[in-house]
Amino acid sequence: MSRENELRDTVILGSGCAGLTAAIYAARSNLKPLVLEGHEPGGQLSITTLVENFPGWPEGVQGPELIENMKKQAVRFGAELRMAHLTKADLCSSPFKLHVGQQVIQTRTLIIASGASARWLGLPSEQALIGFGVSSCATCDGFFASGKEIAVIGGGDSAMEEALFLTRFATKVTLIHRSENFRASRIMLERTIAHPKIEMLKNTVVEECLGVAEKELKGIRLFNKKTGEISTLPVSFMFLAIGHTPNARAFQGELDLDADGYIKTHDNVFVSIRGNRIPGVYACGDVQDRRYRQAITAAGTGCMAALEAERFLEEQGR
Ligand code: NDP
Repeated sequence: MSRENELRDTVILGSGCAGLTAAIYAARSNLKPLVLEGHEPGGQLSITTLVENFPGWPEGVQGPELIENMKKQAVRFGAELRMAHLTKADLCSSPFKLHVGQQVIQTRTLIIASGASARWLGLPSEQALIGFGVSSCATCDGFFASGKEIAVIGGGDSAMEEALFLTRFATKVTLIHRSENFRASRIMLERTIAHPKIEMLKNTVVEECLGVAEKELKGIRLFNKKTGEISTLPVSFMFLAIGHTPNARAFQGELDLDADGYIKTHDNVFVSIRGNRIPGVYACGDVQDRRYRQAITAAGTGCMAALEAERFLEEQGR
């Protein structure tokens, strides 16, 4: 079939843990799923380091390796992976229409596994220095921080993980958290506190990134919310680890989203518009999960979505 009038049984949006698990299941059901890889192929696992809590890997597994293995597994059973990004979805009638660049792909079932993307502070100076010392990906940019003093922003597990990872390169890591208490798990927090290269600042926010004129991060201006003190920290790199935003923009008006833009799901993976379920469309992984956000839960809902898609197609006599 030419790509101009492509009609699929199953299209999966996103190639992270949820999307690839859905692809493995759908492919094994002979649905020949098409996986649209999106802007961040492999999802968040592809830019993480050691995953220590994925069952079956007693010594842990590198995120990119886990994703690469999932891809191979999906392709082995007949999934097709394509580098493409959805701009608009028309879900009001079946087959659903997916606008991908100039092309429209039609599909009988759609599994949305588009994940979530890293959040930024939103300071103009921060935005101006992205790629010039400001980064949201320690795995990608950590190497460039070799021999430098750096800052990590955040108080969750991601911030701890990134701070620990970055001690491999940086001479000193200052972890800056806006609150008194940390969201990070105890084990990660204890490891971070115990690390000799890491210093932690609580109740502290970044007010400005310095070095915009020079196009190179020279330092960050900090404000201590408790003492009111303003200070400057001379760092060459600032890594953001302050959570994620769901990638569901393309579905605004097409699906029910919650106040933060996550896709609302019912019975795990069923989606709706104005409270009415849309048969044949499912969401899984971080785009619909603000509570657990784990690789294993993303994989679990990916599996559920594929099983529901298969059931739906079977009921349709396909
Ligand atoms: P979290 O939502 O857990 O934490 C985000 C952190 O960023 C919070 O401390 C929050 O502060 C802070 N923050 C949010 N917005 C801002 C802002 N505008 N300015 C300053 N600080 C801000 O996100 P994570 O990415 O850390 O973790 C997400 C999930 O993934 C969690 O469930 C976590 O357990 C899991 N995870 C597990 C890992 C592992 O087990 N190896 C590794 C990484 C993540 P505040 O607390 O004040 O709201």
